[in-house]
Amino acid sequence: MKVGILGGGQLARMIALAGYPLGLQFVVLDPDEHAGAGGLSEHLHGAYDDPDLLAQLAEKADVVTYEFENVPAHVAEFLSSHTTVYPPANALAVAQDRLVEKNFFNDLGIGTAPYAAVDNLHDLQDAMPNIGFPAILKSRRMGYDGKGQMVLKSTDDLAAAWQAMQGAPSIVEGFVSFQREVSIIAARRPSGDIVFYPLSENQHSGGILRLATACTNDAEQAMAEDYVRRLLEKLDYVGVIALELFDVDGQLLANEFAPRVHNSGHWTIEGSETSQFENHLRAILDLPLGSTQTRGFAAMINFIGGLPQTQELLNLSHVHCHLYDKAPRKGRKVAHATLRTDDAEVFTQTLAKVSALAQRVDQS
Ligand code: ATP
Ligand code: MG
Ligand code: MG
Repeated sequence: MKVGILGGGQLARMIALAGYPLGLQFVVLDPDEHAGAGGLSEHLHGAYDDPDLLAQLAEKADVVTYEFENVPAHVAEFLSSHTTVYPPANALAVAQDRLVEKNFFNDLGIGTAPYAAVDNLHDLQDAMPNIGFPAILKSRRMGYDGKGQMVLKSTDDLAAAWQAMQGAPSIVEGFVSFQREVSIIAARRPSGDIVFYPLSENQHSGGILRLATACTNDAEQAMAEDYVRRLLEKLDYVGVIALELFDVDGQLLANEFAPRVHNSGHWTIEGSETSQFENHLRAILDLPLGSTQTRGFAAMINFIGGLPQTQELLNLSHVHCHLYDKAPRKGRKVAHATLRTDDAEVFTQTLAKVSALAQRVDQS
């Protein structure tokens, strides 16, 4: 079987790494000539909406998936009419637009921060009495790692923040003073079978994920599973999904979802019986889903902008090094380390060491 992937970055690479033991082959489509899932797959080099390349991809692949959610709708539709595409195009459409996404959550009875659509400065000014300060102005489309977002502290900030959006359709949302951020990753196959991973507790700084830790026996697990199940069933979803949540006094508010494998699930590579990448492949190929049980204590630390000292990482027991074959650049995710052990004390000590290594090379 051959799996096609739109996008040939680190997520495609980790999908391919999980697929080789299952006897799978891969073909990626990516405009970057250095992409190609780190040399692990056949590479169709060109634009995502090049009709010839899309036709080739559909021809070569038994099923097509993607590593990013900003796939143009007409591309997903074209591919869907030529081959099997999972997750389904409707999930992309919802996840691509923060306003549609927030409405979708609320229609499913899943709470969010208060929000309002903003198409001009008047909309923003009119919304603020209801939203309150502080708040965040976000472009509806194309944002990631906190890009395209402005924090609003008072009415004095509104004009400059709206100007910075350069007319992009936006939403304003109330700033949530959460106790913690968590995400839940789940996988669903066409038959409707679903598996859930334990919650991941996530720490961000500057809008970028830094640390993701597997939760054990978390009080909010059942609520998160209920919410992500509602999404999966409403979208008739196939593949892995990630739902980002704010925990406010034991109530979960949805932030956004990603219709793909997710950075907060990278600890599942060594930390789970079956990784998110393998379960994504199992789901889209309609194979039995694997156990999501955590193997002891597990966490993931991102390396942002600067590469880790590989030798120093490899000197640490229970640590696994994942380099993405990407040139270091400010703010860019270039590698991560996974940490897994059965010993709680070793876990805490080693996590501190890896975090210090990540901070030393941080360029964000
Ligand atoms: P990602 O890389 O996860 O796709 P993104 O650019 O889509 O990021 P968000 O996930 O909306 O952006 O925001 C990034 C981070 O900013 C969140 O994980 C959270 O830490 C913070 N944040 C976003 N919205 C809010 C909010 N309404 N209240 C408080 N913090 C927020
Ligand atoms: Mg996002
Ligand atoms: Mg996010």
